Amino acid sequence: MFHKKPAIGIDVADTMACVKEAALASINNRFHTDIKMHHLSSFNIEEHPISQRSGITAEHVRDVLKELWRENSAISLIDPAIPEIIRRLRRDYHVSITTANDAKSRQLEEWLGANNICYDMLVHVGSTGAKVGPETAHVDVFIDDSEVVAEMAMLAGKHALLIEKPWNMRFASIYGEESKMGRIIPVKGWKDVSKILEDASFIEELSKVLR
Ligand SMILES: [Mg+2]
Repeated sequence: MFHKKPAIGIDVADTMACVKEAALASINNRFHTDIKMHHLSSFNIEEHPISQRSGITAEHVRDVLKELWRENSAISLIDPAIPEIIRRLRRDYHVSITTANDAKSRQLEEWLGANNICYDMLVHVGSTGAKVGPETAHVDVFIDDSEVVAEMAMLAGKHALLIEKPWNMRFASIYGEESKMGRIIPVKGWKDVSKILEDASFIEELSKVLR
């Protein structure tokens, strides 16, 4: 008998791709600053006190990101095991790439291809707020570094694996406690992602809802 596979939606920037680090390197170089990744208590580089003192605006950051995606070899994988993990996950899951990235879809496809990431569908939406919506209605589990996406997923009755980052640590620790029964599961990285998603009882639980 045919059973629909559960679907996962994987974010690109800072979930699979080292975008923030590359952007910081470029910003620090251009503005002679020394903003470190672990200092980022906000997702937005321009909100960092050093950025504000140095006149680094959201527009500067956007320009840097656009430039990085044009030369996408500057953006490396967060974990070299990601392509292999996703390849294994495709046995049990439909794999969508769910992103609101500033890059063009073609640039994203090129980056995914260059990094040997296989997937079933690229869902490129216009804003973070649209990541959990009609275009991703098929997604059961979101994998994202954005606490906003994780919370939207939870409110929509879905699961989210929230990749822990300096900017979401406070949020991740709030949900850590109830995560055993809740729908937001904070994870340290891709080792945890594969452990949770490849767990037979997790797949079974998701599949039950789909039947
Ligand atoms: Mg992201």
